[in-house]
Amino acid sequence: MREIKVYCPKCRWVPRPSDLWMCVPTCRRLWHTFDTCGVCPRCGKNWEDTQCHACQQFSPHIDWYHESGGNAAEQSAAAGKEAVAPATGAG
Ligand SMILES: [Zn+2]
Ligand SMILES: [Zn+2]
Repeated sequence: MREIKVYCPKCRWVPRPSDLWMCVPTCRRLWHTFDTCGVCPRCGKNWEDTQCHACQQFSPHIDWYHESGGNAAEQSAAAGKEAVAPATGAG
């Protein structure tokens, strides 16, 4: 079973459950953004970028999730599968 670790992709700062983000400028709701995958629980805004509290840099929210366990060098290529019916040359 793979484990997902959450930390800043730029400085590796690990957010704690007590760290909060604010939905600005209109909603101003404070919440832990990793509880909702970057979605404001009040207005429903999807925050694609998340600011780091340590280095103050914005990074795409998905970049904060890192898989741990297993070899880093071992990557499975899941892309490139085609579901095309074979064209049989009839005639
Ligand atoms: Zn950072
Ligand atoms: Zn909001």
